[in-house]
Amino acid sequence: MKPVHYSIVPKHPAAHLFEVTLTVAEPDPLGQRFSLPVWIPGSYMVREFARHIVTLTAHSGGRRVAVEKIDKQTWQAAACKGPLTLVYEVYAWDLSVRAAHLDDEVGFFNGTSVFLSVEGQEGSPCEIEIRKPEGAAFRDWRVATALPEARGTKRYGFGKYLAADYDALIDHPVSLGRFALARFEAFGVPHDVVICGTVPKLDLERLTRDLKPICEAQIALFEPRTKRAPFERYVFMTMAITDGYGGLEHRASTALICKRADLPVVGQEGLNEGYQTYLGLCSHEYFHSWNVKRIKPASFAPYDLTSENYTELLWLFEGFTSYYDDLILLRSGVIDRNTYFGLLGKTIAGVLRGSGRLKQSVAESSFDAWIKYYRQDENTPNAVVSYYTKGSLVALAFDLTIRAQTQNRKSLDDVMRLLWQRYGRDFYHGKGRGIAEDEVQALFAEATGADLRKLFAQAVHGTRDLPLAELLEPFGVTLEADASGTTPSLGARVRGGADCALTHVHDGSAAQKAGLSAGDVLVALDGVRVTGGNLDALLSRYRAGDRVELHVFHRDVLRAVQLKLDPAEVTRYRLSAAEARGTAKKWGDAWLKD
Ligand code: ZN
Repeated sequence: MKPVHYSIVPKHPAAHLFEVTLTVAEPDPLGQRFSLPVWIPGSYMVREFARHIVTLTAHSGGRRVAVEKIDKQTWQAAACKGPLTLVYEVYAWDLSVRAAHLDDEVGFFNGTSVFLSVEGQEGSPCEIEIRKPEGAAFRDWRVATALPEARGTKRYGFGKYLAADYDALIDHPVSLGRFALARFEAFGVPHDVVICGTVPKLDLERLTRDLKPICEAQIALFEPRTKRAPFERYVFMTMAITDGYGGLEHRASTALICKRADLPVVGQEGLNEGYQTYLGLCSHEYFHSWNVKRIKPASFAPYDLTSENYTELLWLFEGFTSYYDDLILLRSGVIDRNTYFGLLGKTIAGVLRGSGRLKQSVAESSFDAWIKYYRQDENTPNAVVSYYTKGSLVALAFDLTIRAQTQNRKSLDDVMRLLWQRYGRDFYHGKGRGIAEDEVQALFAEATGADLRKLFAQAVHGTRDLPLAELLEPFGVTLEADASGTTPSLGARVRGGADCALTHVHDGSAAQKAGLSAGDVLVALDGVRVTGGNLDALLSRYRAGDRVELHVFHRDVLRAVQLKLDPAEVTRYRLSAAEARGTAKKWGDAWLKD
């Protein structure tokens, strides 16, 4: 198969335009079709990337070839003899990890936003030339990607890169610009840390020192004997900005976005919450190298990039990854047990706050991710459960149940390892197949010997709250609600700022009973002006059950309502192993391995 050639250049950084030239050596003699994905794997929402293709022309042998658009993401070129070349411009102004961005400071793209696939040649190898933008301002720009360089191209240099096929091409995002760079090895495999964006006094050395044990703990979890990583090289690519958070997993890299303030400063000691959140994000995306990039649901193998790909298993791919991301921070010594318990307590409180958990199972939430979890609105807490947070508690419930039933001889680690051995290890070595939806339960049983039928029914397919306190008890860990808060609640979420607007009204809450809706702007509480910044302070003067008068703008019309305040919301659950003794202590220590 002849390779498909792509050439991409940041043509007009000021206009945020990449120009792409695509050459097919042997186009379909009846007329070649091209298409752009409608979604990017890892982010389960139809995003219609083709809407950012601004202009597109085709030519062959010096002659223009007619191109017709046949649906929102597909182009049909007329029949031609000999190589066919497309030239098109892509508008890139999305500073997220999911699409493409270009300005005079930084460039970033995912293949799903910029590279059309050549229908019928998706399996062909790809050559990608990444060209430097013109102008002195870009003289010291470099390239960061996990794509292997072609002969003659230096690492981090502009030039030619290679991908085995289209699937690989779109699974290696590329960063361009001036970036800070550090390297470390995890069990002999090189890892790059790339930070784009201005971060004064960034402590890169600290970053590599903290990431290394996280990576090694994960490699050792999946390959305890060989300590073999599933890639030859890995790149952590971070865009640091004033405010933002997110990450997207890829087979040998991750694209991350974080607050500048979350990154460690030279001389900083200890672990503040921002940096811990960042390391948790790195840990999460890195874990995906195994769980979802290689161990995949059957419906992702291969991905269908033309429409939604349905699976009920995101609780396993996102939820279990969310369980392990923080647990690995603990196991690798980056956080201590109390910090871990604090994170767990916060997750538990978060899950228990939304009544959507009583209406939707994590399997249903996975299936509907495309239209619900990824398209959140004012009703989401009342209608949707997160397969991330509840999914991580489902993982905890499985881990504790397996350990208790097997006297701590087996654990969730054994499930992950069997998934890895059976589906993940050889995924990119010609034997790849995804796990079918109905194979999961049997695999859990095979890996552990535990009877997990009831847990599957309750935790995965049911909506009742998980009996976490009961499950934690044999491990010497107590769980209780932190009921120390006395500030009563309206039963609604508000947006901070000068205006105090309601964003969500919880089912059955005081706010709902008083007829308040999302979008209403609170003006006064018992005659005192309310802002996004002072609502809590005002409410703290009252007790649950007190009656108050609220003035609100409802679609810009003032109304006054009477409201009986709800009890304080539980924002934290407290976990403690202080009372652990004997076997319970031993089991707890084995679970937490800290
Ligand atoms: Zn994830």
